[in-house]
Amino acid sequence: MKVLIDQDQINSRVVNLGRELANEYQNRQLTIIGILTGSLVLLADLIRAIDVPHQVGLIQASSYRDKMTAGSLKINLDYLPDITGRDVLLVDDIFDTGRTMETLLEQVSQREPLSLKSAVLLWKEEATEVDLTPDYHCFKIPNHFVVGYGLDFNNEYRHLPFIASLEGSDLV
Ligand code: 5GP
Ligand code: MG
Ligand code: MG
Repeated sequence: MKVLIDQDQINSRVVNLGRELANEYQNRQLTIIGILTGSLVLLADLIRAIDVPHQVGLIQASSYRDKMTAGSLKINLDYLPDITGRDVLLVDDIFDTGRTMETLLEQVSQREPLSLKSAVLLWKEEATEVDLTPDYHCFKIPNHFVVGYGLDFNNEYRHLPFIASLEGSDLV
């Protein structure tokens, strides 16, 4: 395991993003929607770094896929609060192909928010396969499989306070 982004780097970037978002969304009706499970650590840190009133909601999204095929996405909108007429920011751990975010933006927009944007911790720019980019990102990373700060491998490693690459390990 190789550390790519350490705890201090993450903390200062998240605090900066929080300030930027507080500025952007002051005097607005903001709802931040975390995408489970990968966004949970970022969500907890980011909402405390956004010093303007806002609501928080959750969506569960899981994709089933192997390395060769695009998988199907399972989405649960049961915990989504009423966002009609509100300014909504979707928060996810990583923007890889972008298909998860693309699908979620489509589905959430059907609830008629006033505005809808996306924020992610990590962006694998080289891996993007959709005609869409995240509105906010903390770090661009190369196309390697990473874990930590919410991101898992077989549901392990989410608790690590840093981002690490498993590339070169015998796990992947
Ligand atoms: P996308 O739909 O953008 O291809 O994939 C997004 C989802 O795939 C993320 O929310 C995440 O769950 C998973 N994913 C993509 N790349 C990685 C990675 O490097 N590490 C981990 N742990 N999950 C990833
Ligand atoms: Mg995810
Ligand atoms: Mg995962």
